[in-house]
Amino acid sequence: MVKELLAYQEEDALLRAIEQDLQGSEERKKTAQARKFLEGVDENLASLDKKAKDLSGLYESISVKHKELGETLKEIAGAIEGCEDENAASYLHKKADELLGKLNALQSQASALTEDMNAVLRSYQKLKANTKAAQAQYKEFKAKYDELKNGKEDERKAIEAKLASLEKSVDGALMEKYKSKRKDKMFPILFEVKGNMCGKCLMEISMADVNKLKSGEIIECDNCRCLMYKKD
Ligand SMILES: [Zn+2]
Repeated sequence: MVKELLAYQEEDALLRAIEQDLQGSEERKKTAQARKFLEGVDENLASLDKKAKDLSGLYESISVKHKELGETLKEIAGAIEGCEDENAASYLHKKADELLGKLNALQSQASALTEDMNAVLRSYQKLKANTKAAQAQYKEFKAKYDELKNGKEDERKAIEAKLASLEKSVDGALMEKYKSKRKDKMFPILFEVKGNMCGKCLMEISMADVNKLKSGEIIECDNCRCLMYKKD
């Protein structure tokens, strides 16, 4: 059984090399990067929409307040004109100064808000430009990736056919175990023991397992979960 599974693993290494070539390719990375950006666009847009809405609501309330205070100031100015009492006039002047101070503060708040709104607008424009660039990148590199993948398709199919044939001589339960580890991205999976230690993680093997190995069985390491065999 050891020989058969080793032969399978040797062939499987070729398949894995193809998978890793594709996985590590610039084409796949650029495609994935663009896809990730495009997937986040809606969320980014929604967050900008909310910011814009909040800012414009704030701006609106400042405008209303500004208008109200402006009208009050006008009334006070009118009252000052018709006022003959010195004390009353001085009181009104003080009130008018206070109002002017408040109006100026509102004006500064409005200016700051305008700045913020312009910043949001710039973010919108940037998002739009970046989205366009990501769409172009996705299109270009997805096509290149597909081409790369298709170029390896014949080789991949040939290996898979060979694996299917090699698989027939391996025990079913053992094959399942191997495949599930392969799925978990373990590779290689089958290691030769080093004396009484796991060939992969060097953990000591129990006597019971050592005996199993001696009789030609394949065992699983308790520590790193790899499969182990002993050479005849
Ligand atoms: Zn181990």
